[in-house]
Amino acid sequence: MSSKKYVQVAVNLPLNDVFDYSVPENLQDSIEIGKRVWIPFRNRTIVGFIVNISDHTTIPRTRDIKEIIDQVPLLSEEMLLLTRWMADYYFCSWGEAIEAAVAGPFKKGKTSVRLRESTDASSEIKETGVAIEHVLTTHQNSALSQINKCLMDETFGVFLLHGITASGKTEVYFGAIDQALKKNKEAIVFVPEIALTPQTLERFIIRFGKKKVAIIHSRLSKGEKFLEWQRIKQGEVKIVIGARSAIFSPLKNLGLIVVDEEHENTYKQEDIPRYHLVHTAIKRAKISKATVILGSATPSLESTYASRKNDIKFIDLPERIKGRDLPVVQVIDMRGQRKRTKHLQVLSKLLEDYIAKCLKNKEQIILFLNRRGFSTYVHCSKCGYIMQCPHCNIALVYHYDEKRLLCHHCSYHIKSHELCPQCNGNYVRYSGTGTQKVESELHRLFPNAKIGRMDSDALKKKASHFEIFDDFKTRKIDILIGTQMLAKGLDFPNVTLVGVISADVTLNLPDFRASERTFSLLTQVAGRAGRGETAGKVIIQTYTPDHYAIQCAIKHDYNDFYEQEMVFRKQLELPPYAHMISIVLRSKEEEKAMAGAQALAKVINQESKAFKINMLGPSVMPVAKLRGFYRYGIIIKDKDVYRINDLLRKAFKKWKTPSKVKVAVDVDPSMVV
Ligand code: ADP
Ligand code: ZN
Repeated sequence: MSSKKYVQVAVNLPLNDVFDYSVPENLQDSIEIGKRVWIPFRNRTIVGFIVNISDHTTIPRTRDIKEIIDQVPLLSEEMLLLTRWMADYYFCSWGEAIEAAVAGPFKKGKTSVRLRESTDASSEIKETGVAIEHVLTTHQNSALSQINKCLMDETFGVFLLHGITASGKTEVYFGAIDQALKKNKEAIVFVPEIALTPQTLERFIIRFGKKKVAIIHSRLSKGEKFLEWQRIKQGEVKIVIGARSAIFSPLKNLGLIVVDEEHENTYKQEDIPRYHLVHTAIKRAKISKATVILGSATPSLESTYASRKNDIKFIDLPERIKGRDLPVVQVIDMRGQRKRTKHLQVLSKLLEDYIAKCLKNKEQIILFLNRRGFSTYVHCSKCGYIMQCPHCNIALVYHYDEKRLLCHHCSYHIKSHELCPQCNGNYVRYSGTGTQKVESELHRLFPNAKIGRMDSDALKKKASHFEIFDDFKTRKIDILIGTQMLAKGLDFPNVTLVGVISADVTLNLPDFRASERTFSLLTQVAGRAGRGETAGKVIIQTYTPDHYAIQCAIKHDYNDFYEQEMVFRKQLELPPYAHMISIVLRSKEEEKAMAGAQALAKVINQESKAFKINMLGPSVMPVAKLRGFYRYGIIIKDKDVYRINDLLRKAFKKWKTPSKVKVAVDVDPSMVV
């Protein structure tokens, strides 16, 4: 005798509700929370996730589920709580959040999940070399003992580990992981971009052994991801290293989460659910009573602010290992350079001289420019015509290798012109500097030097980051030029000179975090110099040498930057003083986007009776047209994300999205452009 059973099912659609279904008798024994099921939905059959089981329903007539897909639940209780929270906070549906949690390793609904014999997923990481056990410094020891206490107590705790570059943060992570393992707990370590941090990965593998470690990166196939998921689920894996999505790893006894370079904007997901890893990691740790370490040489203002309010605990690593000095940073005012030579230069005389000197001493050099391509601005000097992307209205970038003009937003491209398409004149000018132009300048100036380039174009051609890093390590490359890819966690002791070709690229972005990003990028890049026996030198070329982001980077003064930037954030009620929720409406027809935004803003205003809402716009987005869509935005600032989400849910019920308009809501956006 069995009574009727019902399940509540979440679906991967932008619908807030969960749906009640009845369970046919023959399936009653196999229903479990966290399994996927096939359900009839409107006039289709779709996949849903069981989020609750009950023996009654308030729905008068329910439909039966059709089939249960999995033999074991994909989602633990913990994961259901986490995804539920994500939906409430990041303004998406529970089903959308759950889909993100399982999307990596599972094909859409087709295959059943059962636990099988597992095999190792192959990885490019070598397991050679010996683990060097360092005697920890006083600062490292004190950091570790605070963290370990939290791990011992098995309570929830968050630590901001502010350690300058080469202060030995990784060694602290190692110690904390040791402690977690001793307690029979598992750890997740986040690195901003797996492919860019081969050295960090190598250190982890060497230290803990391949067997215990799973590395989740985007270049794994679905099959490989699934194998890793199984190894984790079966408890073989003790340490998961990954990018964002590793937060959904099915570990049973999570004890520790490490977020390395916690300030990185790659931790923010740009698609639904638009979650921020740091916040989500803290949430998961809270659910699992785990310890979190947020590590950075330049913590996000959010994290430092939280530590100053004592929401999280602050730990300082103020010195470089072995008392090595931070590199001397020198700024070159490119305005002066221009006066001297009457034309724009890629390399100042001073930087050129330093490079020559390094090459003579057989030392290595890293040059950094956050813009790929050859010329970033192509125009006709006769009629003024600018080569622009017809879909994005931004300047096309000339790429030397393929002799074409490319849009960096949407990849639209055309063959480069000899003549101006508008006036047919022979006056097409190529200006602005990208990494390819720097590379060609270097070849011209230093014909005997071995020069390497690392940006996404180079990587498309040349096999992998690993190869380029390897060439640099084995001295097959003297000068490495690259984009921000080079700023991350690299430790090459023979690099004595780091040159920033233009600090203005990031500083001029139309985003409120432009200064913060510039400061942290400069500090991180500078941190690549002088990590060995010889002291390092950093040269920053800029047209705005007096900007505080640059001035503070010269002094390696995080706190001064923090204080100055926070004044401005406070005045404008910007994060971290308030949360920001950005709503972008886009349409191929400009009037539709604009009218839609105006109507939505009106409804939001009407609905916000309970409190005074701080709303900006609607207005044209800084990137006014993208991929053929015109863009209008509304920004809301508030200390309480949940009440804004509530308000928006009400508003979106009243306001029906007009046809041919698409809406994207982004909570705590990383960039508003
Ligand atoms: P960070 O991540 O803070 O930039 P790392 O953890 O990469 O710094 O450490 C910088 C270098 O110092 C690495 O080569 C590391 O092996 C070494 N190192 C770390 N801790 C110690 C220590 N206690 N004694 C000697 N060398 C250390
Ligand atoms: Zn485009």
